[in-house]
Amino acid sequence: MLILLLSLAVPPVDAFNCVTHSTCGCMFQSGGSQGYKINVNDFSSGEQTEIEHGADAWDAGSGEILRGAAWQYNRNADLTVDGSFCDGTENIREKDDTWFTGQGLAADVDAVTTPCFAFCGWVDGDITFRDSEPWSTSLPSDITNSDLSIGTVAMHEFGHFAGLDHEDANMATMNSLYPHGGDIAHTKYRINEDDYVGFLTGYSDASTGNNMMLSRYAFETVGDNLAVEVWTNGTSEETGKTWSGHAGNTITAAAGPSEVMAIINGTSSISPVIEWRLSSDAVCFSGTEYVLGTRTPTISSNVPYAVSPNGGYAIPGGTPNGTYHLCAKIDSTGATSETSESDNIIVSEKLFTVN
Ligand SMILES: [Zn+2]
Repeated sequence: MLILLLSLAVPPVDAFNCVTHSTCGCMFQSGGSQGYKINVNDFSSGEQTEIEHGADAWDAGSGEILRGAAWQYNRNADLTVDGSFCDGTENIREKDDTWFTGQGLAADVDAVTTPCFAFCGWVDGDITFRDSEPWSTSLPSDITNSDLSIGTVAMHEFGHFAGLDHEDANMATMNSLYPHGGDIAHTKYRINEDDYVGFLTGYSDASTGNNMMLSRYAFETVGDNLAVEVWTNGTSEETGKTWSGHAGNTITAAAGPSEVMAIINGTSSISPVIEWRLSSDAVCFSGTEYVLGTRTPTISSNVPYAVSPNGGYAIPGGTPNGTYHLCAKIDSTGATSETSESDNIIVSEKLFTVN
């Protein structure tokens, strides 16, 4: 029997892979659905709801990033006593620091997935959260302190259930240091499209239609296991990057804010217009805003594309001094019909200063 232990603290890998074994090869599951059971004694009702929503982020549906992928998570009858390893309960539970230490896991591992395989087939999978971690039930963009979003971490761990390994080279739900898929307009969790690209190596997508998304700003590591999103975190910037300028001046792309990452799903390639703006509030592409520039790259389906404005960030003359959110939108002209428009706009939390 092969046991694979996955945690949030394994060394980085630079490509999106399925969990592999020398004999079994890729350990993607063959089935189109996966049940799980939550130990309700371990979690508040709010935490249970967020764990469930984290699982649901992988499910396909209309308007979802996973447009038609053959996958579904189902919450089955709850537990009040933990099952044992490899017993087929698909147990979602909490354990204390002593348990994590006993498993040989470092103190910075906050959750772990322990899948059990036999004869190259899935037998059981348990997801264990560290009970001393101050879990937040907020969506990732609504967290105001250093707490971890339990729904986001659940989303990451359920990705392991589907056979996905880590993707640490980019912002991604399956990033082991900083799992990040973001959320859709402060309403629901979403996987990053980078995760979707990896997911498609193991599962089919029978749907048709296009979807475009902007995501994945550059990030950097703080300490030994915390990565911050450069664009959204006001405490950290890429070296040499400028988040301020004068009206009438242009900041070159190399000196300006981090590039955004555009990804499209659908047929062949698309050449969407991407537009950058300054907005005095966090609601982008609405109200009085100042256009910094555009670019119209040709993007191939399922290939992440880093991009900044053509010619740099040109601050219009007459832009009032003040602080602004930096906004970007893909297909800003609305030229392409999409299965979901909710993931086309991104907004910085870090503020840009015009002075
Ligand atoms: Zn992991």
